Amino acid sequence: TTDIKVDVLVIGAGPSGCVASAYLHQQGLQVKVVEKNTFPRFVIGESLLPRCMQHFEEVGLLDALKAANFEVKNGARFLRDDVVCNFDFSDKHTKGWDWTWQVPRADFDTILAKEIQKMGVDLSFEHEVIDVQFDDAGISTTTINDAQGNPYKVEAKFIIDSSGYGRVLPRLLNLDKPSTIPEHSSIFGHVEDIHRPTGEEGTMITFDVLDKDTWFWVIPFSNGNTSLGFVGKNEFIDSFEGETSERLKNMLKHSDYYYERFKDAPLLFEPKSIRNYSKAVTKFYGKGFALTGNSAEFLDPVFSSGVTFATESALISAKLITKELQGETVDWEEDYSNYIKAGVDVFATYVKEWYTGNLQTLFFHRPENPEVKRQICAVLAGYVWDETNPFVTKHKRIVKTLAHLINMEKEKSASV
Ligand code: FAD
Repeated sequence: TTDIKVDVLVIGAGPSGCVASAYLHQQGLQVKVVEKNTFPRFVIGESLLPRCMQHFEEVGLLDALKAANFEVKNGARFLRDDVVCNFDFSDKHTKGWDWTWQVPRADFDTILAKEIQKMGVDLSFEHEVIDVQFDDAGISTTTINDAQGNPYKVEAKFIIDSSGYGRVLPRLLNLDKPSTIPEHSSIFGHVEDIHRPTGEEGTMITFDVLDKDTWFWVIPFSNGNTSLGFVGKNEFIDSFEGETSERLKNMLKHSDYYYERFKDAPLLFEPKSIRNYSKAVTKFYGKGFALTGNSAEFLDPVFSSGVTFATESALISAKLITKELQGETVDWEEDYSNYIKAGVDVFATYVKEWYTGNLQTLFFHRPENPEVKRQICAVLAGYVWDETNPFVTKHKRIVKTLAHLINMEKEKSASV
């Protein structure tokens, strides 16, 4: 027996679920969002990309976010040894947003969730999806435990699975497949940034590169706290012993640039760790459902693509579902799967070439090539579907080839 019937059930109220449900609601569809946690809740993914601003804008969520005065992110800084590589989003190949934010996600996601509730979206917190059954026509019956632990059933014409690390449908339908990204793990936490310098130095997002496989993020927030996180091979992460607080403190000693600033900065909670974080699925959609955001795919934090991918896929799947429910024919393979894969593939190349060292060769080679930099900057801003950018269309070859040329040049000048 079904207790509730809706057009679309959205699982999870992170950025992906909020953007999808806001859009569907505005199209006049009957939407229900179920979120297993209470908000605010911690989730990692604090550095956004300019491209996601247009998604929030399109569904009317931008003004509420603006009112929160999050730290503005105008670019990104990469450090290696004594070389600084600064990307400025206002100087990029693709037109579009040239700024975004650095956000504590507990606050950010709460604003989004409250805002969709204000719009009239039916959102239930502490409601956890525990089972989903599909019939041949793709109509689903989902079993949900409410806040008191009482199960009820929702019938839906479509499910958008935006459950992030919960990976509800990939688990229930067996859609997981190994990621092709080399395995890495991470330890991260928030500190009270008691020695924050004034000006840009204090607020700029920075990636401090320790070696080819190991790097450290510094993401200052406008509330005076800063997110610190280390990423490395499992051997590196595992070589530190004790509680995560002790491990993070000891890892900090590897950052010449930041050790003094953060060595006695009070941690705001016991840091978290996540192992082999890259995830992939065998398909992004099926009859009666679409996977969006992290529930579909997660590559690597190095280019901060997670939330942008989450909102991009949310908006596209919501648009396709709307069309289909209005009786139009939808080519999910072309307009969803292939489109999403094209963007994911570009980022996947950059992530892979980061860890081969080729991309780092490009970033830290001096003198810089301004044209190359503008084109790479557009990719780093999230504009990975711009076919006028050779760093998008030729992503598989161009980073490798340029790095090779730089290395040959270096060898030549070394042998002269
Ligand atoms: P989430 O934000 O995870 O939301 C999913 C929601 O679904 C959660 O609230 C959860 O409670 C709910 N849920 C789960 N299971 C159920 C269930 N059974 N029933 C009901 N609800 C459920 N991304 C960036 O953009 N920038 C970064 O700097 C960045 N850094 C990262 C660093 C690390 C180490 C890692 C591992 C990831 C990072 N990411 C980053 C990725 C980012 O965390 C995700 O891509 C992003 O949070 C995805 O958003 P989402 O809406 O898909 O899922």
